Amino acid sequence: PRSDDKAARPTPMMAQYIEIKSANPDCLLFYRMGDFYELFFEDAETASRALGIMLTKRGKHQGADIPMCGVPVERADDYLQKLIALGHRVAVCEQMEDPAEARKRGNKSVVRRDVVRLVTPGTITEEQLLDPARPNAFAALSRLRGGDGGWRYGLACVDISTGAFDVAEVGEAELAGELARLEPREIVAAEAICADARLTTQLAHLDAPLTALGRDVGGESAARRLLDFFGVATLEGFGALGEAEIAAAAAAILYVERTQKGKRPALRRPSSLRRSATLEIDAATRVNLELTRTLKGERDGSLLATIDMSATPAGARLLAERIAAPSTEPELIAQRLDAVSFFVTAPELRARLRATLARAPDVARALSRLSLQRGGPRDLGNIRAALAAAREIVTLFSAQEAAPLVAQEITTLAACDNELERAITTRLADDPPLDKRAGNFIAQGFDAELDEARALRDESRRVIASLQQRYVELAETRQLKIKHNNFLGFFIEVPQAQGERLLRAPFDAVFTHRQTMQDAMRFSTRELAELEAKIASAADRAQERELALFEELADAVLARAQELQRLAQGFAALDVFAALGELAVKRDWTRPQVDSSLDFEIIGGRHPVVEASLEAQGKIFAANDCDLGDARAGKIAVVTGPNMAGKSTYLRQNALIAILAQAGSFVPAKSARLGAVDRLFSRVGAADDLARGRSTFMVEMVETAAILNCAGPRSLVILDEIGRGTATFDGLSIAWATIEHLHEVNRARALFATHFHELTQLTKRMGRLVNLTMKVKDHAGEVVFLHEVAKGAADRSYGVHVAELAGLPASVVARAHAILAELEAADRRAPVTKLIDDLPLFAHVATSAPAKDELREALGAIDPDALTPREALAALYELKAKA
Ligand code: ADP
Repeated sequence: PRSDDKAARPTPMMAQYIEIKSANPDCLLFYRMGDFYELFFEDAETASRALGIMLTKRGKHQGADIPMCGVPVERADDYLQKLIALGHRVAVCEQMEDPAEARKRGNKSVVRRDVVRLVTPGTITEEQLLDPARPNAFAALSRLRGGDGGWRYGLACVDISTGAFDVAEVGEAELAGELARLEPREIVAAEAICADARLTTQLAHLDAPLTALGRDVGGESAARRLLDFFGVATLEGFGALGEAEIAAAAAAILYVERTQKGKRPALRRPSSLRRSATLEIDAATRVNLELTRTLKGERDGSLLATIDMSATPAGARLLAERIAAPSTEPELIAQRLDAVSFFVTAPELRARLRATLARAPDVARALSRLSLQRGGPRDLGNIRAALAAAREIVTLFSAQEAAPLVAQEITTLAACDNELERAITTRLADDPPLDKRAGNFIAQGFDAELDEARALRDESRRVIASLQQRYVELAETRQLKIKHNNFLGFFIEVPQAQGERLLRAPFDAVFTHRQTMQDAMRFSTRELAELEAKIASAADRAQERELALFEELADAVLARAQELQRLAQGFAALDVFAALGELAVKRDWTRPQVDSSLDFEIIGGRHPVVEASLEAQGKIFAANDCDLGDARAGKIAVVTGPNMAGKSTYLRQNALIAILAQAGSFVPAKSARLGAVDRLFSRVGAADDLARGRSTFMVEMVETAAILNCAGPRSLVILDEIGRGTATFDGLSIAWATIEHLHEVNRARALFATHFHELTQLTKRMGRLVNLTMKVKDHAGEVVFLHEVAKGAADRSYGVHVAELAGLPASVVARAHAILAELEAADRRAPVTKLIDDLPLFAHVATSAPAKDELREALGAIDPDALTPREALAALYELKAKA
């Protein structure tokens, strides 16, 4: 039994491993052993599979082999990147003392180890792991019961790599949309929130892992955490923060502290995202319109990728933010457009600014690494280069009267401290290395002590070279070399035969034997040993001194962190304005006019992404007008036309033009004038959501319900093929009722593409409804799509023609033509027109004002995944009855 006991008991090292691992159960543990991070047990299996590295064994635990795999420390970043991309979290556990220290304590003693940081998708800072063009933030959630009994969510969005820290308070219904806009890489929340299945379903499509974070902290202790972190006595300086916002900010700080193990990143103070001022775009619409990523999840082919001409990663990130959250304030939009216009009219200045910015490094991310003590000399070099670039830019603009927003950024840059740049320049060498351990980055001549230690170190190396020459003569062999390794330090090596000679007099008086190799012998001398000690101590001294100087300089930089953050923001803002100017010139875009009316008048509009891809194929995009304006409410355009005629493209392009205009960009149109849109909704395409077990039709109805419940006269609604996913009469009825509701209740500006030609008859009854159709040339049986929008209704759908184009066998096409003719004849015998005349209009049915909370409740109670299409339709009717 004794020996069993022994086998079952883990070795001291394994005991330490198990203890550390159990404190970090949700992470893969990178356990430092010499030059490797080792992983054990299931971690090893997971990592070897994910990374494609060899799984080996090391020792036994409770009688079974312990699986193990390892990654070399110097290549750890690559492996981390892969693991993070796959959604893993990694705890990095380092040796906290020299192994010699542990040996001194006794031979059973293990090197002290500790987790120094958690690497998670939302908290990375390493340049190698970051996508330069994308923010890398995590979101922290908190929640409180609101006055109406529903949840109010506090939301804090923190990007450790840039220091950005935004907070917001949102209702339950807006949470997913807000998160979709912020695109966090990870979401953290108290366990109770993470356990809420309804919430997690809503967040499922965000592609951000959800991390549980103990208990929710609120009230006093949340405020205290904020005060402590920022070292201030009152939160007043932060602007008015709500209770939920403070709680979320506190949760975010807790997570920063937990993952960074007490190191304090240079975060900006939390600022409230003034939600009222931005165009709200719900999550589905963001996806549908492919704003920052395509439906397939790629950046290429998205609106952002098509319009991004920024010169810097920080500019690209800011542009992404602007597109994600366009403004609704006509004055602000006009000011931003002024700034873009300024760059449109100043091509030379624009080019010079962009060239300077392109050379300027990413200040925010360098600053963040320095503040986390993960920075190196190159980060200091980056700060220096950024300050120099700021100076250059200020000079560029000195003779120019710039647009106010541009002038404002220039003033910010001009306020930067030249002292700091000088301080770095006098201390730092020209091309500093990434890692401070590489040494030789403090400029020669700055520090006498460092120069002396270096001289000694380098001088001794020369002395070694001349020593070798002397020993060659002394030992009477040209084959003698002085070499170095970590085990022996400096030593003399000669071939075996020569070595035998050196063992004897008179040579043995000088050469002491150290080692015999297969065909060489190694010796030392007193002189060499002394020199060795001298070199080692000089090198140590040089390194120590150099690191101390590095810390000093890093501290000087961090003392100016707020100022440097502003400089980084200034660069980004200028970059965005200039990039949008470049874009406008390159693509021949025009300045839109955004006001507070309900107009929407676009002449010669184009779809930026489709146009770009057609251009690449040498084809021309047909520009189209759009007018949805009316004095008191929006118009609804019913767009009919065959498949592939360009309906979806037309719908989307108008939404994209509104987004671009309100983001402060010029737009792809001859002219554009619109009243600021407050919310944008879309139900576009039949994107199946089978992966999550929802039928297309259910998704469609859920999205339509959200639109009908929320859209107002300032909103813009894009509906594509509503009701297509169900039987014809069901679909037609739903589409019909939807149009009536939009017209009578929502009164929004809307574009409605449909296959149901019957709907074009509705203009007879609704004053603000117009019919549009995609022009088609039908020439001797051959169909040509002109992609031109015209007033009026399409007379037929050409579906059979499209089928023919797609290569359906001729016999099938011929048969389909025959059947179609029959059906069309039948249709005319039961004209829908009659129905139009008979049925009372929607408004007469729905008289009571919508009882919003009841509706929300009913909507909330629906579990979309559990319904059949039939039940879903019933549910929709029930919802409508409540409205
Ligand atoms: P629909 O929604 O009517 O089925 P789409 O909007 O998907 O049609 O357009 C089909 C294709 O037609 C697009 O992929 C594009 O290549 C082309 N297209 C659409 N609109 C235009 C246009 N205005 N000018 C030129 N080509 C267009």
